[in-house]
Order: sequence, then structure tokens, then C-alpha cells
Amino acid sequence: MKVKVIGAGLAGCEAALQLAKNGISVDLYEMKPKKFSPAHSSEKFAELVCSNSLKAERIENACGLLKEEMRLFSSVMMEAADISRVPAGGALAVDRDVFSQYITDKIKSEPLINVINDEITEIDTDEYTVIATGPLTSDDLAKEIKRITGDNELYFYDAAAPIVTEESIDKSKVFKAARYDRGTADYINCPMTKEEYTEFYNALVNAETAPLKGFENQKVFEGCMPVEVMAKRGFETLTFGPLKPVGLVNPKTGRDDAYAVVQLRCDNKEGTLYNLVGFQTNLKWGEQKRVFSMITGLENAEFVRYGVMHRNTYINSPMLLDKYYRMKKYPKIFFAGQITGVEGYVESASSGILAGYNMSNLINGKDMFEPDSKTCIGALPLYISNEGNTNLQPMNANFGIIEGLNEKIRNKAERYNKIAVRALDIVKKQLEGK
Ligand SMILES: Cc1cc2nc3c(=O)[nH]c(=O)nc-3n(C[C@H](O)[C@H](O)[C@H](O)COP(=O)(O)OP(=O)(O)OC[C@H]3O[C@@H](n4cnc5c(N)ncnc54)[C@H](O)[C@@H]3O)c2cc1C
Repeated sequence: MKVKVIGAGLAGCEAALQLAKNGISVDLYEMKPKKFSPAHSSEKFAELVCSNSLKAERIENACGLLKEEMRLFSSVMMEAADISRVPAGGALAVDRDVFSQYITDKIKSEPLINVINDEITEIDTDEYTVIATGPLTSDDLAKEIKRITGDNELYFYDAAAPIVTEESIDKSKVFKAARYDRGTADYINCPMTKEEYTEFYNALVNAETAPLKGFENQKVFEGCMPVEVMAKRGFETLTFGPLKPVGLVNPKTGRDDAYAVVQLRCDNKEGTLYNLVGFQTNLKWGEQKRVFSMITGLENAEFVRYGVMHRNTYINSPMLLDKYYRMKKYPKIFFAGQITGVEGYVESASSGILAGYNMSNLINGKDMFEPDSKTCIGALPLYISNEGNTNLQPMNANFGIIEGLNEKIRNKAERYNKIAVRALDIVKKQLEGK
């Protein structure tokens, strides 16, 4: 039995090694160095295309927890990070060359993994395959993925608004209401006076944007204009657009008398996350935190993901995948990495681990590893495969998607620590088969 893994990025390398560890032979296809995506430039595997940070280490941070969970699966990313780390305060940052070299060597010295430097452009749905070709999947393969998933099930651009945690919104300043009282009052409304709006507006139009790569051309903006670009069209453009105040009656005054209203829409079933409606943006992350914290009620908001606008090929996982990262329609095909709708280096690697682990179990006739919503490694596939998620936006590791505790703990660090300790215990027991 042989499995085809396509893409030797962060997810593909983890998936291939999990398969090999479980006795399964792998043909690992990587198009580099014959062909490079616009962001890749090294011949090595598991290339970090941008930042060299794998984010926070402490388990009271969801990405820190995820990394600890990954260690329990003998993650190659974590092994590589340990030997390539560079000083970065509380974050885990790495020397990217040492990091990638370690993973490349590990893959190349694994007898059950056969590396083939070729671009894959066709998928045989009867063949065991892990597709891990990332956000910059080659064009011909993207066309093929479209063929097997359906025309409307592959997204090419990620134009996402920031998401904040519900608990970090200052409830004393905002109100729930439906415009003109039509429907249920599902939106959280952040009302702003003219003075507040003016201050916010000036900060927004003068904030620093992230540079777009050459390949992220104007097409990004055709369907989905960044809030800062819209704002630059005129002082009142937003107040006639996404920040329109009319029909939103503030219970405190009994009138729709705000000058502008930012609306927050619930982003998950549990009601723990809210996105800023109409705030797709290309501002730098630090600038998003600074400027969007000027919105009434968001002064101390916890941003669990920032808005992004970049080329990002990802599938409509809620329709296509089950919770094991496996296609519902073609059970021999798994997806892994950013292409599934998880977002980030660590998140991508974690999905490669589970996809490889579960494909091994499938082939070896074992029970699947059940993703648990109390763990971060489990919450991610549960989030991206949730059929109720009708407009999937790529998701980072965060505590908003992990099941909370039954007890109330006000101190956030203490609460997150307890959730993390519980999660690590669950994953340990799952792996021990208890
Ligand atoms: C420009 C950019 C910057 C990013 N910056 C960050 C960041 O700073 N921090 C962060 O956490 N996340 C970042 N991300 C998001 C994401 O976490 C990374 O892209 C991550 O590398 C995804 O891992 P992956 O394994 O899914 O894909 P990749 O690491 O991209 O691996 C995919 C591999 O598949 C290969 N491939 C593609 N098509 C084919 C084909 N047809 N046949 C064979 N091989 C193929 C590619 O050459 C590549 O080696 C960024 C994304 C982009 C696009």
C-alpha cells in the first residue's frame, strides 16, 4: 500500500512522517526546485515563506497549546524548532534554514518515504492521497481540485475581517439590535459619536498597510474592498456603507442617534467569536490592533485573528471534508494544511499530523483519531468541517474555538491554563488509547 502526499510543505512533511511512522510507504511529490510558487524560494522542504516566528510558547496561548499537543504526536516541526530556535522573548522563533534543513534531512533519510520532484496536476480519487499544496497551490492542480470538489468550492483569495472574542467586548458600551427591529437582535452594535468617528477615521486612513506581493494584484479588491480603501473615498463613505447607523436603535437613548455604528457578527456556533462586519483589511496587524481598538466597546478587545488580504487557495471544507480532514465524497483523499482553511504555520502542520495519522489508521484498519473540541488540535478540524459554517474564513488556533470549562474562572490566564492542562491530558489519553 502506497500513499501519495502532494506538497513537501509544513503539512505535507508532517503527514508523510506520520504515515511512515505507522509503516506506510509514501511517494512525496514536491514541485520545487523545478517550479517555485511566487512566495517560495528555497529548495528545502517545510519552507517558512514569511515570518520566522512560530508564535507564543506558553500554553496559556492557544498556539502555544497547539505546539505542545503536536509534541505528543512527535511532530517534526517541533523537533526542528527545538534545534533551530533563536531568541525571541516569549515566542518560538527559528533560524529558517536550519529549521527547513532538519525537516528535509529527516524526510530524505526515512526509508519509507520516496521523494519525487514533480508537479502533480491530476488526482486519481481511487488512490490514497494527501493534498497538502498550500495557499499557493500550482494553477494546474488548483484546476484539478476544482474538478473534484465542484466549481464553487475553491477560494483563491482570502479577504477576511478581524475576529475578536465575545468576552473581551465592553458590554457596557455596545448593544444588541437588528436594523429596523427586523429579525432577531443578533448583531452587537458599537455606536460612535461624530467625535469618536472622526478620530477613528483619521487613524484609519493614515494607518500603515501591509505590502502586497506582486502576484496579489488588483483582483483582490474587485469583489471585496478593504475598509481603509473605502474610507479614503470620503469622510462619510463608511457611514453610508458598513458603518451605517440608521435603524439601529440604542436602548440607552431609544433612538438611532449614533453617527456611525460598527456591527459585529457572531462567527461561531458557541457565540464566543465575533467578526467586524465589512472590515476586510490590508492594514498591518499592529495597526489593526491600534486602529480597531478605537471602536467603541473594542478598547480592550482580544483579536484572535487579524484581517488579511492575500492569495490563499483553500477549499470549502464545511461542504467537502469530514472532521478527519478526509473528503466526504472520496474517502481515500485527505487534505492537509492551509488549503483546508486552517491558517498559519503551526496550524497547517497540525492538520498534516492528523491527516497523516488518520490516513494511517484508515489503511491499517484502526479506529480514527477523534478530534476533541476540548483540545486545540481537535477544535481546528471541527471548526473547518462544521457544516453550519457557511462562509468559511481561514482560522488560527485560538481559545474561542476550544470548548470552555464548566466552572467560571474570571482570571483569563488561569482559565486558559486550566483549559490547556485539560487539553494536554485528553490528547495524551487519546494517544495511549484510553
Ligand atoms: C505570502 C504568504 C505569507 C505567509 N506568512 C505567514 C506567516 O508569517 N506566519 C504564518 O504562521 N503563516 C503564514 N502564511 C500562511 C501559511 O501558514 C503558510 O503559507 C504555510 O506555509 C502553509 O503550510 P502548508 O503546508 O499548507 O503549505 P506550504 O508550506 O506552502 O507547502 C506547500 C508545498 O506544496 C508545493 N506544491 C504546490 N503545488 C504543488 C503541486 N501541484 N505539485 C507538487 N507540489 C506542489 C509547494 O512548492 C510547497 O512546497 C503565509 C502565507 C502566504 C501565502
